[in-house]
Amino acid sequence: MLRNDQLEQWDRENFFHPSTHLGQFARGEAPQPVIKTAKGCHITDRDGTRLLDAFAGLYCVNVGYGRPEIAEAIAEQAKELAYYHAYVGHGTEASITLAKMVLDRAPAGMSKVYFGLGGSDANETNIKLVWYYNNILGRPEKKKIISRWRGYHGSGLMTGSLTGLATFHNKFDLPLSPILHTAAPYYLRRPDQSMSEAAFVAYCVSELEAMIEAEGADTIAAFIGEPLMGTGGIVPPPAGYWPAIQEVLDRHDILLIADEVVTGFGRLGSMFGSDHYGMRPDLITIAKGLTSAYAPLSGSIVGEKMWKVLEQGTDENGPIGHGWTYSAHPIGAAAGIANLKLIDALNLVQAAGTTGAYLNAALKDAVGGHAHVGEVRGEGMIAAVEFMEDPGKGTFFDPSKTIGARVSAELLRDGVIARAMPQGDILGFAPPFCLTEAEADEIAGKTAKAVAAVLG
Ligand code: PMP
Repeated sequence: MLRNDQLEQWDRENFFHPSTHLGQFARGEAPQPVIKTAKGCHITDRDGTRLLDAFAGLYCVNVGYGRPEIAEAIAEQAKELAYYHAYVGHGTEASITLAKMVLDRAPAGMSKVYFGLGGSDANETNIKLVWYYNNILGRPEKKKIISRWRGYHGSGLMTGSLTGLATFHNKFDLPLSPILHTAAPYYLRRPDQSMSEAAFVAYCVSELEAMIEAEGADTIAAFIGEPLMGTGGIVPPPAGYWPAIQEVLDRHDILLIADEVVTGFGRLGSMFGSDHYGMRPDLITIAKGLTSAYAPLSGSIVGEKMWKVLEQGTDENGPIGHGWTYSAHPIGAAAGIANLKLIDALNLVQAAGTTGAYLNAALKDAVGGHAHVGEVRGEGMIAAVEFMEDPGKGTFFDPSKTIGARVSAELLRDGVIARAMPQGDILGFAPPFCLTEAEADEIAGKTAKAVAAVLG
């Protein structure tokens, strides 16, 4: 085994870490955690420090760490057939089986699944499919895509443009056209404190209507949204938001892309967030929970309405010119099959709903009454605590005080990983679905201690 100082030096000298402060890291001013093993909801680093991972990696290890069923399925697949491509109609038993399993679980009206590697490339696929669709229908002007401020849809060129967070745009010359952003359904940050929730939904809808009016419905192809906003702050939609948005989209013949990278396969206590909130998407993005991150795999689930047009397109133009070498990789597919079987066998979607409700209630009890907690919010196995300077007056802390990051660091010192979300003083929780009530109590109790340490 390499000495820690050797490993840390190699790390600083050779490894370009994603979403990391590069200068601080290279100068040795940032932590360099090296994770070695994991089981259930806990990870252990090289020094033997064991941490309760209340964010399931990047809200992706939904079935928990160290599941031998998935590891063995991956090993068997690698021995039998590590790779074959899926171009020109080729399949493997694993990829065909997983496509059937995904469609069996998908919301009504879905037709086919296209497999990729991660959420960003799946959304890239979605954008291309939307454009292809409108070109086949003879509507070359109908290409703009409306996303929302604070939405997260990836960090590629187009998907980073869909993302509505400044850190993912700054100095990258993003967002690119034809991506537009409308209001986030973030009631705590409503433009006027006196607005009721219903009035705020009406405001979001009127902002969307105004954008459609200004741009022209014949130029707008699709609207993309996460059923519950994730990276932008873990924000459940206000009651009635999705049916109201859906009505506007239907009226203007605008497609709906539900980005279910976080919510797909159970995180909200329902198999899909679209069903949970009454959305009727034309495309659904899936990734993380599809394999619980045991292997990289994503997908675009295509609805029947679009599928018919895509078929017509290839009849007119020849094979669809869109594919990755690793589309439907058999090892990812084997991991996906084993993962979905485990979710069924252990009733983990239901567990996410019930233990998630327990965690949400425990967090509310523990910190909901604190003078600087503006809100404890969540749904199923996802939750957030948002800190405010003065919740009564609706004022937020100066970002330079880095309250969210400081509470998260304090909590980490006490053995619990929660994520300081990138925009605002928001502490995010999204543990594996196998979380126990005792672990939920530990998270809530230690969160209260960390909040008290930073905010008194
Ligand atoms: N969409 C959503 C809703 C996500 O949360 C993420 C990742 N956090 C992505 C897309 C991008 O997925 P990936 O990082 O796998 O490219």
